Amino acid sequence: MHASMTNNTRKKIVAGNWKMNVLPSQVTEFVTELRNRISGTDVDVVICPPFVCLPAAVAAAQNSGLSTQDSGLIKVGAQNMHWEGTGAFTGEVSPNMLTDLKIEYVIIGHSERRQYFSETDETVNKKIHTALMYGLKPIVCVGETLEQREQGITYEMLRMQTRLALQGLEDEQVRSIILAYEPIWAIGTGKTATPEDANNAIAAIRGVVGEVYGQDVAQQIRIQYGGSVNAGNAKELFGMPDIDGGLVGGASLKADEFEKIVRY
Ligand code: PEP
Repeated sequence: MHASMTNNTRKKIVAGNWKMNVLPSQVTEFVTELRNRISGTDVDVVICPPFVCLPAAVAAAQNSGLSTQDSGLIKVGAQNMHWEGTGAFTGEVSPNMLTDLKIEYVIIGHSERRQYFSETDETVNKKIHTALMYGLKPIVCVGETLEQREQGITYEMLRMQTRLALQGLEDEQVRSIILAYEPIWAIGTGKTATPEDANNAIAAIRGVVGEVYGQDVAQQIRIQYGGSVNAGNAKELFGMPDIDGGLVGGASLKADEFEKIVRY
């Protein structure tokens, strides 16, 4: 039986990765518009602005007087963090700085961090441990390059990245993690994995979680697809049984398009 056919109760989660776009002076208006557009949806919606935009983003997300934990409101995440809680690490941002700002989520191991900023499976694993210790929910990215796909080693890569990322974690910790399958060749390129391909890759990732942590954890962990998701393809992708939502880059910067993705 297909892994997810036994339990389809996972709540969808759509996260917007704003990368190095959007200025602090633009955040309040943008988040307020998004908040109004997505109210009443039954999907976890997370936005991940640049660090310097986080205080304004949290303030705008909470402006209704309700907590960001409440259903229908926007939750805020960071795009990265250091693996230490404090210390002499010039230019870095620590997990307790994020929790001090009431940030709930943090993206860890995005392929752009791996490619341009020397992020490794080891640092990803360290960051996940620390994020969980501080009560943050990590959104952990894994994905193959075009070369690896062409060599036919996609699943080996995904299995290895997933195992290394989750190494040393307890069952309970793994349940609160969000994994994001992001084929690198699909990020920012306009090329998308087919819904079947994306679903199979995510089912393989769920399979690894099941081998290490058991079926119960594998059924509960939410796994997103990321890579050129837009208003036109979200419905088909998110309708697949193993795909629990998306990590969205470019299309999350347009309020109307992001709303359509959330309301797929
Ligand atoms: C991303 O940055 O994680 C991403 C998926 O980007 P895009 O949607 O632009 O491909």
